[in-house]
Amino acid sequence: MRERFHWCERCERTFLPPDLGAGDVCPHCGQPTKRISWLTAALRKVGQGTGNRSDIQQKHLQLIQAIWTADGMGQRYFEICQPGSMYYSRFVRQVTELICRGLEEGWIELRLPVQPLLSGGKYELVHHDPERFVRELQLLFPAKSGERPAASDG
Ligand SMILES: [Zn+2]
Repeated sequence: MRERFHWCERCERTFLPPDLGAGDVCPHCGQPTKRISWLTAALRKVGQGTGNRSDIQQKHLQLIQAIWTADGMGQRYFEICQPGSMYYSRFVRQVTELICRGLEEGWIELRLPVQPLLSGGKYELVHHDPERFVRELQLLFPAKSGERPAASDG
């Protein structure tokens, strides 16, 4: 069973289908909502009433984050991307969000070990389109080539 989540841009909130108005509009402001996956919903803090789910989603995100930052890779990405004055924790969250989008869209695949208790069991993210990942990273963290002013980070 796949959960369906809807996102209202104006309220910056996630809603579940039973809470939506007719035509999938936001129950608060009446704006049309956008369908998003549960990964995205988890990243955007699911609204109230989904306590159990958000707990496991949170763990899933922590897992993805743990996988891509393993073996000092997080720090390495941080150095390569040089996201200006951005804190490392924020950088990690943004890359995790990007990876989750890749997973949703299929250009990144998450592989879990079939037997996690055996040593050597590997958790890995497989990049089916590495260039896409690099492109998306560059979009997120534009390289400072000298003349480009540092983007203020809201
Ligand atoms: Zn709304």
